[in-house]
Amino acid sequence: MRYVSTRGRAPVRDFADVLLAGLAEDGGLYVPETWPELGAAEWRALAGLPYAELSARILSLFAGEAIALPTLRALSEGACASFDHPAVVPLVQIDHNLFVCELFHGPTLAFKDVALQMLGRLFDHVLEARGARVGIVGATSGDTGSAAIAACAGRERIDIVILHPRGRTSEVQRRQMTTVLAPNVGNVAVEGSFDDCQDLVKAMFADRPFRAEMRLSAVNSINWARIAAQVPYYVASALALGAPDREVCFAVPTGNFGNVLAAWVARRMGLPVRGLLVGSNANDILARFLAANDMSQTKVTPTLSPSMDIQVSSNFERLLFELLGRDGAATAATMAEFRASGRMPVPDAAWRQARALFSGWRCDDAATLAEIGRLHAAAGYIADPHSAIGIAAARALAPKGIPTVAMATAHPAKFPEAIARACGVTPPLPARLATLYEREERYATAPNDLAAVEALVRATVARNVA
Ligand SMILES: *Cc1c(COP(=O)(O)O)cnc(C)c1O
Repeated sequence: MRYVSTRGRAPVRDFADVLLAGLAEDGGLYVPETWPELGAAEWRALAGLPYAELSARILSLFAGEAIALPTLRALSEGACASFDHPAVVPLVQIDHNLFVCELFHGPTLAFKDVALQMLGRLFDHVLEARGARVGIVGATSGDTGSAAIAACAGRERIDIVILHPRGRTSEVQRRQMTTVLAPNVGNVAVEGSFDDCQDLVKAMFADRPFRAEMRLSAVNSINWARIAAQVPYYVASALALGAPDREVCFAVPTGNFGNVLAAWVARRMGLPVRGLLVGSNANDILARFLAANDMSQTKVTPTLSPSMDIQVSSNFERLLFELLGRDGAATAATMAEFRASGRMPVPDAAWRQARALFSGWRCDDAATLAEIGRLHAAAGYIADPHSAIGIAAARALAPKGIPTVAMATAHPAKFPEAIARACGVTPPLPARLATLYEREERYATAPNDLAAVEALVRATVARNVA
């Protein structure tokens, strides 16, 4: 299996190289040169497998010769063992023909754990085979940092340092990062804003001698392996509801377009998916695109679903590449125009093609709270604000008679204030968070200064290279 860049001007690579590279050199995103396709008999053969096995077999189609199936099986079993539910990604029925796929039973109670738990293990495996190490640096405003730390903690060949703005994350968010005491994890509270933290990370990548010395890498959401690791739960839930002999729809609360892109990939592989229903909060660039071909950036509005407070959905570029007939030059030109003008010129034919499969639904905070309240009253089910937006999209847009699966992306206990406002109850804290306030914390504090932060990264890396 070989991978090409969406901008058409980067070297063709295999799965392991794409995993380590992240972004392609031409600024594009890697996608498979050809999509694997399964027939009905092959889908049927996957039905009923334990999730870890199903996941390994799907990933194997993308890893090709770069990583053997028995290895993927072992990595997948390790990743699934970090989840608190024996089904890993359980399917729960909440209404007639409406189901929720709970993706939040991992170490940090967010769907990003599903892909990142696999990614950390894939990194370790590939680096071990090459006798190499990497240093991962990242900035977080809250949630993504903890999922990355949980994925890398204790890995043999990875050091990870995450910067957060001092005093500007919630205490739960900070503690989810700073109570991970593995020697290969560093947390730095920067005297500054989230933007300052992001600028420091960019500056570390731009400091070539430092970047080479630390072998800097990233695990952000444009990494192809993260998309690949999200495909299996779409396959598993569709098979459970009768695929390949019955169509399904998926409803996905969307930010960077990574989760719903994995659903598109499953469909491209031949899974019978009738429609993809994209939920947005007040930051509704995707809903506007799907309704009226208006992909134009506005200011980011803070909402009750912060992981979807995004204006530029970076993984959309992978869909754009397909809509433009896999023309790398056209994709590069469209992205350049988007960056320059804030408006993406998508040709009418391509937009119509997207509309035939995707539809968008916008849910502001009031509608989000209303959906949480309605669901709790009708079915006794508590959804977090992100998941509620997907469920609202499913209610509004799902075609009659087609079973629809809404992706639940965060545990409701992470958003107790919103849940209490919406339905007057406080969701119980899962066992793995129950002792969070008693655990020892470890983090350094640094001024908003590149040299000071680089020294702290160097110290974390030095701890482990004995
Ligand atoms: C990251 C995230 C999303 C958005 O997923 P994308 O893949 O970026 O579209 C939605 N909900 C939660 C809770 C998240 O953490």
